[in-house]
Amino acid sequence: MLEIDLGAVAANWRLLDAMHQGETAAVLKADAYGLGAAQVAPVLAGAGCRLFFAAHLAEAVSLRAVLPEARIAVLNGLVPHAAADFVAHDIIPVLGSLQDVVLWHAEARGLGRVLAAFLHLETGMNRLGLTAAELTALREDTSLLEGVAVELVMTHLLAADVPEDAANTRQLALFDEVARQFPGARRSLANSSGIFLGAEFQADIVRPGAALYGINPTPARKNPMHGVVRLSAPILQIHEIPAGESVGYSGIWRPKRPSRIATLGVGYADGYHRILTNRATAYFDDTPVPLVGRVSMDLTTFDVTDVPANPGDMLELLGPRHGPDALAAEAQTNGYEILTSLGRRYQRRYIGA
Ligand SMILES: *Cc1c(COP(=O)(O)O)cnc(C)c1O
Repeated sequence: MLEIDLGAVAANWRLLDAMHQGETAAVLKADAYGLGAAQVAPVLAGAGCRLFFAAHLAEAVSLRAVLPEARIAVLNGLVPHAAADFVAHDIIPVLGSLQDVVLWHAEARGLGRVLAAFLHLETGMNRLGLTAAELTALREDTSLLEGVAVELVMTHLLAADVPEDAANTRQLALFDEVARQFPGARRSLANSSGIFLGAEFQADIVRPGAALYGINPTPARKNPMHGVVRLSAPILQIHEIPAGESVGYSGIWRPKRPSRIATLGVGYADGYHRILTNRATAYFDDTPVPLVGRVSMDLTTFDVTDVPANPGDMLELLGPRHGPDALAAEAQTNGYEILTSLGRRYQRRYIGA
């Protein structure tokens, strides 16, 4: 059972919104980090959010169905032949290259209209964004942006979760410099962690994703966000095995004492990654129980020798005691990948809306 607390998502948005003067957007790419954009988006709109970011056009079009009034932007920019669809669904592209600008300008000219756009400016990530050379080209040929209303210029921080990383101030200084080319545009730098770097980074608009969904934006400190997900599964069977037997594929785990092994119907096909083999922790009430043996596709085994668990009892895989960041540490990844991997087979329950 995957329980998603939409009230906590809204509370997280309000908490971030209260931290600064400007506008708080919301990033809903990858189906709202795996939690369900169709459910999350209206709740955020209800909390006061007016600007939403998706990664792909198809995500934005799905969002449009549940957000008829909101502004929706696509972080990954335009692809050839997509401009008409952006216009048809009233989606704003984040133009991240000269090629994007050329395509959007051509669309505007063809329609005889002015089209809104956001511009992504390169400051160090080197993935998306107009480079210094491309900005020079735009300065030298102002006709390239005719018909394009640049409402927002943005960049993306590469190490916002590490406040002392010198890349943050370097990117801020470079952004201040290149953004001057667009004096009429609002400015945005901060993802979730960026909001916690202070007012200069908050600028006019902040773009949190992860923190809305309960991931800690300040990894070196206590998580200021409300937990959003709770994942639990019932024990299918308990096997009592003697010392020296093995559990699961390849027999890689053998107990040193007589043990009780609880089997859950959750596996790597559900995003409960195989790397969690012999590493993860679940909770029986308040007591941690270790995952033992290999994670298989549809099944996982836990050592419940020290707790009074019975078949049908629930073990908690994600929850207040053990959130996405904690499971991520066991899986050698980040909370983002834990959430976006959450499987489609879980029964989902939305609460708090
Ligand atoms: C994903 C993304 C965000 C949100 O980042 P979080 O760390 O999840 O808050 C903001 N801006 C851009 C450009 C992104 O790609």
